[in-house]
Order: sequence, then C-alpha cells, then structure tokens
Amino acid sequence: MTITYHSTRNNQLSYTASEAILAGIAPDGGLFVPSTIPQLTLALEDLAKKNYQEIAFHILKAFLTDFTDDEINESIQVYNQEKFDTALITPLVEAGHDHYLELFHGPTIAFKDMALSILPKLMTISAKKNDSQEDIVILTATSGDTGKAALVGFADVPNTHIIVFYPKDGVSDIQEKQMLTQKGDNVHVVSIEGNFDDAQTKVKELFADKELASDLHANKLRFSSANSINIGRLIPQIIYYVYAYGQLVDQLSIQAGDAINVVVPTGNFGNILAAYYAKEMGLPINKLVVASNENNVLTDFFKTGTYNRNRDFILTSSPSMDILVSSNLERLLYHLASEDTQLVASYMASLSKDGLYEVTADMLEKTVEFYAGFASEQAVSDQIKHTFEESNYVLDPHTAVAAYVANDYRSKTNDQTTTVIASTASPYKFPLAVLEATNSNFKETSLEDSLSQLRDLTGIAFPNAIEEALHDPIRHHTSVKVNEMKDIVKEKLGIQ
Ligand SMILES: *Cc1c(COP(=O)(O)O)cnc(C)c1O
Repeated sequence: MTITYHSTRNNQLSYTASEAILAGIAPDGGLFVPSTIPQLTLALEDLAKKNYQEIAFHILKAFLTDFTDDEINESIQVYNQEKFDTALITPLVEAGHDHYLELFHGPTIAFKDMALSILPKLMTISAKKNDSQEDIVILTATSGDTGKAALVGFADVPNTHIIVFYPKDGVSDIQEKQMLTQKGDNVHVVSIEGNFDDAQTKVKELFADKELASDLHANKLRFSSANSINIGRLIPQIIYYVYAYGQLVDQLSIQAGDAINVVVPTGNFGNILAAYYAKEMGLPINKLVVASNENNVLTDFFKTGTYNRNRDFILTSSPSMDILVSSNLERLLYHLASEDTQLVASYMASLSKDGLYEVTADMLEKTVEFYAGFASEQAVSDQIKHTFEESNYVLDPHTAVAAYVANDYRSKTNDQTTTVIASTASPYKFPLAVLEATNSNFKETSLEDSLSQLRDLTGIAFPNAIEEALHDPIRHHTSVKVNEMKDIVKEKLGIQ
C-alpha cells in the first residue's frame, strides 16, 4: 500500500514521504499527515523476539513507502552500539508500579536523539531520491536539548550543513558546553544576545527570506528544518512504543494482546502523538496519558475542549516542556475532526489571531482515549525524592512530571493496567534539580562537584556525553547580536 502525505489544512496536494521529509512543513503552514495509518503486520507475540532495528524496519517500511528496503536498512543502522550505550537501545526498567522506557541512551542523553540520529539519513536519502542537486542547510534555534542532538545527528553527514543559534544566557552550563565542544567540519554553533524567542523569531524570518533563499540557491544550497513537526522525526518515535510492548511480553510482564497504558511527559506533543499512531496501528494501548508541567495548556484542553495560550509562560525545572503552543497537536485535531482540513485550518487561524480555539463537542468526546494531568514544581521535586527513596531509581525532572501524573491517574481511576512511562532525559542532564530534590542540605559549588554527587547517588558512571562536555576543548567562539544573524549565516556558509 502506498502512503502519501498532505497538509492538515488542505488535502488537495499529495506528497511522497521523501518529499514531505525534505519540505518539513506544508506550503500552507500545515503539518504533513499520512493519507492512512498503516496497520502493524507483525503478530504481537512475535514482537518479543525482535530487536530494535527489526522493529524499526517494519515501522519505517509501513510509512515511508517510496523508500526501498536498502534505503530503510541503511537508515536504521544509526541504532547501533556506538551511538547508543546499550544494545537494547531503549531499555525498559521496572521501578515501583511502573516500567520506565529509557529514551536517553543516545549520544546526547536525551530523547531527542531517538529521532535526530536518523533524520539526517532520511533527509539525505530523500534529497537523492528527488534528484536535488543542492546541499541541505539546517538552521535551528534551540533552548537546549534539540540543538545538541541535531548537531550530533548532522555532524559530518555529507551534503549537509548545520547552524545552531542559542541564547547566550538562556541555556544551562552543561547544555552550553555540550554544544560548544561539538566536532564536525559542517557544524556551526553561534550564541546570540537575546532570549530564545528572539533567536526563534529570527530563524523563522531567515527561512522566509527570499533574498537569502536565492543566495543559497546560487550556491547550490537549500534550507531544511529539523524541528519536531517534520514527519521524519515523528515516525521514528513510533518504533520504541512497539519495541517496549515486545519487551513487556518478553519479560512476562504482560501476555501478547494485553493492553498497556502509556504516560508521556509532553511539550510539543510529538512524543505522545507517536504513541497515538502506535495505537492506531493496532498496538494494544488503553490510555494515552498526557503529562504536563505548570505550563498546563494541554491539561485544560483535554478537560474543556478549549485550547488557550493566553496565559503566563512559566519557567520550570523541566525546560523542554515549557511550551504554550504544542505544534503537533494540530495533527491530532486533524484525526479528531475526521480529517476535515478546513475545520483544522480555521482552528489554527483562530489560534494565531486570538491565541485560542474551541473544538466541537464531538471532537472532545473522541479524546476519551487520552487522560491529561499536570505536576506542580513541588510535586516534581517530591516525586524525584519519593521514587528514589522507594525504588532507588533516579528520575530527571521531565520524567518525574510523568511519574507524578501516572500516580495521580492511578489513584483517581484505580486503573491498574501495566504502565509504561516515557523517560526522556538522563538525570545527568539536570543535576541541580535532582540533587536539590533528594538532599535538603545540598549546596551548589561547581558543576563538576554536582555531577560527582549525582554519580554517588545513582551509582551510574558518567555517560560519554558528560565526559565530553567536561573535558573536550571549546571549538566554537562566535557570538552575535540578533540583527547580525543573517550575515553570520552567509559567512559560515561561505556565501558572498
Ligand atoms: C523535547 C522533550 C520533551 C517533550 O517532548 P515533545 O515531543 O515535545 O512533547 C520531554 N522531555 C525532554 C527531556 C525533552 O527533551
């Protein structure tokens, strides 16, 4: 079966998978959605015997129907033991009532690696398939995790360049060191004077800049986007839910056919949407639990049917979830609206004009397979302490949001279904939040000291990513003002 892709806001134009991956976003500003959601062709009882790459092959083959088997095989090689620190790729760890699906064993110890390690492969193959003679230029503004994961993913990938902008005072120490030590002949890291929004807004402007686009074209270059609305990031995220189910069967925690609940710490709605697609493919998932931090716009949406971004933006200990516009929700709206693209377009117009929209009662009713809840900052800190004391398992603040909401859901509903919690970052990425939660006498001295204390707490040696950030030489030294970003892009790409 051939799967094509079209915009959530208009179904007139169809794209192949490779065209959609290259374009990133539809020309009308909508997100690409598959014409149909393919069904799992693997029997549930057979999942237990499959390794990560084998499951990856099935999922990618089902969605990327213009890719050959060889191309898919080439792509999935990135899920290897050089990039990931365990042969399991995404191990499932039981602690307390729950099974934690650890998505942080990749090169940057955060879940963004799961998709950003394969996206460069999918993009370069897509470029070749579509006879593009132009090198791909990835331009990204980051507030932390995405920047490093994209740098690692694209470093030294032939026919690509990547430029990452970050706010000089807006990322953590460790995040900044991770980016500034990045190797690769095609990577550029630039700090800007300003906040994340300034950087993000300017990057969007540069994407839309006609003059810059024609300069790029004259130099056989084209912009592409690595952000989480690219279907080339979304589809690889389905793999680990199917794989986790197989592991549960293999560990005899469930029998093939049993339903599970999945709890996901959510920001841009990408990771939980991948779980929804896994369910739509036929994976037995009972509830999809959307866990938010104090930026709880999604909790309100699932409760009331109104999405309202007009509220204060709160800085929390789980910064990757500090988001007021969850872009990928647009794809869920499309499915809830029975594929009515006009209705989705009207909601998105209302969101950009007034900052809110309200879905129909019928659509709200169809969200029964979701449960949404949120954790306060205090609840997150208490959860980290509680899980550590009860299970000797250390959660990062993002995963702690999910653990709290999982418990909250269980106590409110008494639903005892086997639960998988997506664990999205290594505690090593957020040492201060973890140490403050587990030790009331903790005092910050140096980063090195905090990391050593965390090592004593977890009993887990420093991941490679931490060793590198601490000891590798700083390789990037450029810092610019926001209005100099365009010039620096040209300079880094050697455009006159
Ligand atoms: C990006 C991120 C999230 C949120 O994932 P979405 O797909 O944006 O919902 C959660 N935790 C961590 C650590 C992340 O980096």
